[in-house]
Amino acid sequence: MDLTIEGKVYINGSFEKCCIGVDQGRISSIKKISKGEKHLDFGDKLILPAGIDIHVHFRDPGMIHKEDFSTGSLAAAFGGISCVFDMPNTIPQVTNLQVLSDKIITLGKKSYVDFGVYSCVTNSNIKNAREIGEKCSGFKIYMGNSTNSLQLDKSNLREVFKEIYSTGKPVLIHAEDEQCLDKNKTKERNLVDHLNSRPSKCEEKAIRDILESSRNINSKIHVCHLSSYEGLELLKNRAENVSCGVTPHHLLLSVEKDLKPQLRYKVNPPLRKSFDREILFEGVRSGFIDVLESDHAPHNFEESIVDFEDAPSGLPGVETMFPLFLHMAKKRKLSFQRLVSIICERPAYIVGIPKGKIEVGRDADIIVVDLKKDCKIKSEYLHSKCEWSPFEDWSAIFPMHVFVRGKKLIEEHELLGNQGFGRFVGK
Ligand SMILES: [Zn+2]
Repeated sequence: MDLTIEGKVYINGSFEKCCIGVDQGRISSIKKISKGEKHLDFGDKLILPAGIDIHVHFRDPGMIHKEDFSTGSLAAAFGGISCVFDMPNTIPQVTNLQVLSDKIITLGKKSYVDFGVYSCVTNSNIKNAREIGEKCSGFKIYMGNSTNSLQLDKSNLREVFKEIYSTGKPVLIHAEDEQCLDKNKTKERNLVDHLNSRPSKCEEKAIRDILESSRNINSKIHVCHLSSYEGLELLKNRAENVSCGVTPHHLLLSVEKDLKPQLRYKVNPPLRKSFDREILFEGVRSGFIDVLESDHAPHNFEESIVDFEDAPSGLPGVETMFPLFLHMAKKRKLSFQRLVSIICERPAYIVGIPKGKIEVGRDADIIVVDLKKDCKIKSEYLHSKCEWSPFEDWSAIFPMHVFVRGKKLIEEHELLGNQGFGRFVGK
């Protein structure tokens, strides 16, 4: 055995003192006592699966002044995320095999953590979805406009769901109805105006269309960044193959909070009221919501020195997601079972990768956590190019050590890993 890692290990819902054996990057055994060529004993520190973020925008290629895959993946690593899945609205947009292959090569040279890449399904490339699906990690559909996105008409949804079934890959959907957004568009001067421009009923309408169009089709369908009570209510009656996610910002922030400067919190779907926020948090606790996804979408500081109306939408969050919720688990605002389910197990299942769980045969993607090490989030110590956090001064617990495929990437909160270590998780 190459390596054994000892500590209080999270296995099947509880913590047990034991040793994880690692061979060639995979977990080869889990025993009460065992010793490999190298043995690391973390005493009573917690050992959890590393997180998987199925929704990031690392802006590479094409917008590397905002972020690039080295800074984005570095932020992920420090935040205990061992694998990220990048959205296709980079430049050029990922809509065909050539662009997809080029992007995978580019990212492979830069990434600190493992990664997947989505392809966008638009009105004009539906028939190529099967071919692209051989290689991409999944598909993205934009039903409503957002930053640099290509849309798909809702009349084409059913055809897409049918078309991708044989690929076995998931389709992730930005669920805001375009006509509804058009109808409600108003002049925007602040976050409340932005919310009024994109009301809950637009999300509700889009989700209704998704559920209707996917009836009796067994493709993996994931509704991204759920933000409203109405949306959650509809999804309570979803079929097994439909999942949904929520972001840290929709769970923790709302328009009633005194958020400044307002335009930096502009995001789609918008931050809503504390009523929606609380219902969503309850949805996470009770298990109705499957996944926590950061929707990490950074912009530069210069881009935010404009009028509210002209400011781009999107918040950073890949580095702070797991640490914020580790602190909440410590404070018993949600259980460790739910935490591991929404950040590790369910994401791994949705994108179909052998990670997200401490189990023989899976990748040894592991974090070591000292629950006594609370800290306050300070953006100056984060690694994204955008240099700010919507969670400045919030309490968090960052992992001390992070392993990816048995290799230590972070040791005592310091970087050990190299750019280019991260691998594409598909073919
Ligand atoms: Zn997104």
